[in-house]
Amino acid sequence: MKDSHLARATMVKEQLASRGIRDQRVLDAFLEVPRHRFVEEYLKYKAYDDYPLSIGYGQTISQPYMVAIMTEALAPKPHERILEIGTGSGYQAAILSRLCATVYTIERISALASRARRTLDDLGYFNIHVRIGDGTLGLPLDAPYDGIVVTAGAPHVPEALVEQLCEGGRLVIPVGDQSLQDLKRITRSPDGVSEESLGGCRFVRLIGRNGWKD
Ligand code: SAM
Repeated sequence: MKDSHLARATMVKEQLASRGIRDQRVLDAFLEVPRHRFVEEYLKYKAYDDYPLSIGYGQTISQPYMVAIMTEALAPKPHERILEIGTGSGYQAAILSRLCATVYTIERISALASRARRTLDDLGYFNIHVRIGDGTLGLPLDAPYDGIVVTAGAPHVPEALVEQLCEGGRLVIPVGDQSLQDLKRITRSPDGVSEESLGGCRFVRLIGRNGWKD
C-alpha cells in the first residue's frame, strides 16, 4: 500500500492521541504495525479508517481506537507474557508483540487462526504463538499470564481466565449482552481481585463453554 506510513501517522494522531491515548510505547506500536496487512485485498484502502472491518466468517478486525484502549488498559511491560482470546486477523496480537516478551493468542475459527499465523510469520513477528481452541477456558498449558485480553464480548467473566492470571496480572474483557458491553479491567493482587469499569463498547460474541452458546 502506497504511503502506509503516512496513513498510520494520521491514524495515530487523529484517532488515538487526540482521544486520549497517552502511552508513547502504545502509540509507537500503532505507528509500526502495518494494519493493511491484516485485512483482505479489497479492504486495504479502508485499513486505517476509524471503524472495524470484516475479516470474513462473520468476524471483524476491531476499530484501531478500541484496540488502543484495550492495549493501554492492559499495560503490557517488556518482560511480560500476555494471552489474547480471539486472534481474528492477528492485528491486536501484533500490537502486543511489540510491547511484551511473548504473546499467546487463541482463536476458535481455525481458518482465521491459520491466516493470522501466516500474516504474523510474513511480518517476522516471531514472539507470538497462535493456538486454535475455546479461549473461554484460557490456555492452561502456558499459564499463568501477566495479562489477558479478550477481544470478543462475554456474558460474564470466565473464572478460568481470572485463575490463569499471575499476582499483579490484569484481565481486560468486554462483558454484557449481545449488543452492548462494559469494558472491564480485573486485577489480581495478594489481597484478592479488584474490578474497574472502563466504559461502553460493542464486540462480536465470545462463543464457548464459558461464553455464549453457538
Ligand atoms: N483481535 C482480533 C483482531 O485483532 O483482528 C479481532 C477479534 S474479533 C472482534 C473476535 C474474535 O474472537 C473472532 O475472530 C472470533 O472468532 C473469536 N472468538 C470468539 N469466541 C472465541 C473463543 N471462545 N475462543 C477463541 N476465539 C473466540
